[in-house]
Amino acid sequence: KTTVRLVFLGAAGVGKTALIQRFLQDRFEHKYKRTVEELHSIEYDIDGTKIRIEIMDTSGSYAFPAMRKLCIRNSDAFALVYSIDDPESFEEVQRLREEILELRDEKLVPITVVGNKADLENQRLVATSEIMSTVELDWNASFVEASAKSSDNVMGVFKELLQQVNLP
Ligand code: GDP
Repeated sequence: KTTVRLVFLGAAGVGKTALIQRFLQDRFEHKYKRTVEELHSIEYDIDGTKIRIEIMDTSGSYAFPAMRKLCIRNSDAFALVYSIDDPESFEEVQRLREEILELRDEKLVPITVVGNKADLENQRLVATSEIMSTVELDWNASFVEASAKSSDNVMGVFKELLQQVNLP
């Protein structure tokens, strides 16, 4: 059976765990819970074909750079998550992208940039259009905004990630 490995990277608190939980169980955890490296595995049906999706939640993994490097090397697609109310979290996305490009030789690394907490529109400090042009035009990567809280477009995040993987 085909296994697809997805890795979620981003600053602490941007909602990586919340997005993954939303996808896995359609629930939203209101209380902040710090995760150490966690690997989730589910079977998923894409157009009638069963695949196994392994999702690596790297929240809190900054204490283990070797672990992060290993999962960057082994991943099929990357979700680089920031929060739309936190410009510094997008700077972290830029740093993470550079780290990924250093570790991987491909011309086109499968990256989806995720602007999470889209429900916090009245606290927005990161403009959609700016990020969209940086990500799609300069980086040739995918860009989506989503909210793990409202569940808005969480499926869109995983759709983009899976589209970037070459499934048999
Ligand atoms: P992580 O460190 O990136 O895994 O972030 P978490 O998933 O633990 O989320 C950090 C905090 O942000 C928690 O208090 C979540 O409830 C909250 N959070 C996560 N996603 C959203 C979202 O889409 N909207 C809002 N308003 N809060 C969110």
